[in-house]
Amino acid sequence: MAVLLAALGLAVCGLAGWGPRQLVLARQLGTLGGETQRHLEFYRLSLESVLAKNESLPRIITLEARLRDLLARPRDPARLAEANGYLKEIRRTAGISETFLLDREGLTLASSNAGEPGSFVGRSYAYRPYYTEAMASGFGRFYGIGATTWIPGYFLTAPIDTAAGRVGAAVVKVSLDDFEAALLTSGDAVLLADASGVVFLTSVRDWKYRTLQPLDAATREALRQSHQYHDLELKALDTGLRLGPGTSSARVSLAGGRPQDVLVQSSPVGHLGWHLMLLKGTRQERQSALLAGIAAAFATAFLLSLATYGRLNRKRFRERREAAAALRRAHEDLEHRIAERTSHLVETNASLEDRVEALKRTEAILRETRDDAVQAGKLVVLGQMSAGISHEINQPLTALHTFTDNASALLDRGRLPEVKENLGLIREMADRMEHIVREIKTFARRSSAELRATPVEAAFHQALMLVEPRRRGLGAEIVLRPGPPGLKVLVDPLRFEQVLLNLLRNALDAVAEREDRRLTLEAGEDAGGVRIRVADSGAGLPPEVLARIFDPFFTTKPVGQGLGLGLAISRMIMEELGGRIEARNSEEGGAEFTLWLRRGDD
Ligand code: ADP
Repeated sequence: MAVLLAALGLAVCGLAGWGPRQLVLARQLGTLGGETQRHLEFYRLSLESVLAKNESLPRIITLEARLRDLLARPRDPARLAEANGYLKEIRRTAGISETFLLDREGLTLASSNAGEPGSFVGRSYAYRPYYTEAMASGFGRFYGIGATTWIPGYFLTAPIDTAAGRVGAAVVKVSLDDFEAALLTSGDAVLLADASGVVFLTSVRDWKYRTLQPLDAATREALRQSHQYHDLELKALDTGLRLGPGTSSARVSLAGGRPQDVLVQSSPVGHLGWHLMLLKGTRQERQSALLAGIAAAFATAFLLSLATYGRLNRKRFRERREAAAALRRAHEDLEHRIAERTSHLVETNASLEDRVEALKRTEAILRETRDDAVQAGKLVVLGQMSAGISHEINQPLTALHTFTDNASALLDRGRLPEVKENLGLIREMADRMEHIVREIKTFARRSSAELRATPVEAAFHQALMLVEPRRRGLGAEIVLRPGPPGLKVLVDPLRFEQVLLNLLRNALDAVAEREDRRLTLEAGEDAGGVRIRVADSGAGLPPEVLARIFDPFFTTKPVGQGLGLGLAISRMIMEELGGRIEARNSEEGGAEFTLWLRRGDD
């Protein structure tokens, strides 16, 4: 049965962790998706502007009389020299790779690289789509590796029309090297694939001239005929990436690392059916979602153990209640007899009743506290503290049990002074329990922290006001440095003040026995957040104290003066506020507590 229940408990915890993991993952991926989308849009606009910049240049070139003159008399050396000169001038002024003039058959008549190594003059480009398309439809665009130079580029072609018909075409070749260089230095994994899925520009060197999916025979043949990528092999990548706009996911190794799940954002770009894709690793998002899931599973485990603990405790409370009722019955029986004795005795009886009521009240408070805390979702805190609480409360409860038994036995024997002494001890025990309950109740006060931008200086003053009587009593000096004017922290003001108060009280305790009684309370900006420091001129923190200082019920103070909950509570509050607290010894030798909090900007 126990094994079955444990297995059931584990299954419940597992399920309780799975849901939050999925939720957190969906939210994290949503945020990453938005961010990736914005980055991709930036790259897309940059590329569009490079492509669009020279769109009208070929048409402008076709208007040039020197080119038209050459087309009319292609063998005239003087006209050829003029045309070449003009094209070289255009290449220089427009900052393009090359520009050249094709005749009706696709043969290069003049070119900006005439007379240079790799000159296009005399070569035929009739098989290139930029020529065929321009001649057929009035404008040609194409991206490919240069058939002569092997230098890749984006080709734009406009036909030259005369009264005699379409007699030639002007071609402009634009380099996308600058765009690719920018991609290489971006740190992002970006690729530009053509309509067939060939990656021809990318920030990941290994992907260049690879294909997203294996190419079919027809596509391979078309690429071979146009010599688009020369005769490169164009092997397929094994990434599962596909052409198409929108968001998708794939498993890819980025930057030479192990394969990981990536988010892929893709957008069409240009006129040729290209897709620009941006890939972002999701390892971090998955890890934090997993952590959230684990935390939720642990919280559930705490809830279950708390429920078990609660059941055990209820039993114990019942026993105590029965003990109290028996005591009361005994008292009622005795009441009559005692009333007959002295008036002094009647007074004692009255206070006995008070004590019983106090005990009942304490029990009720304890029960309420536990329920409050459960409702307030402070399960983790209570789970951590349950061991300490049960220890702390069991002690006075056991003592109460003994003292009440004693008291009734003593009453039977009429030993009233000893009864009175016993009742005094009962009172002490009840006080101690009340104190514990008060401390614990801080957790249950509200359902969750209400974070708002809170001026640091105001919170400092509020906390200082509360410790002022004690400060004055000790004659201690508090050096206050509230940081830049208007500095705010994102906190629940009451809880934040509670932390400050705990630290200031401890610091005042620490300097109480010292000759030099000085505290420092200061705030400052720190890496986008706010850092708060509470330091004192006390004896500092020995290693064994430092190691356990944030443990619930750890205290070095005499019984009745410290419960050891102040710093445990402070740490819980800090975590709840999304901040943290650390303790160490300052250079001057005293203790130093540092808080890190989020900035509160309106
Ligand atoms: P309590 O004050 O009830 O003992 P805390 O959790 O606030 O509980 O503190 C735990 C213990 O940490 C203290 O008993 C004390 O030993 C140590 N401590 C806290 N603040 C200081 C300080 N400023 N200087 C020296 N010791 C400190």
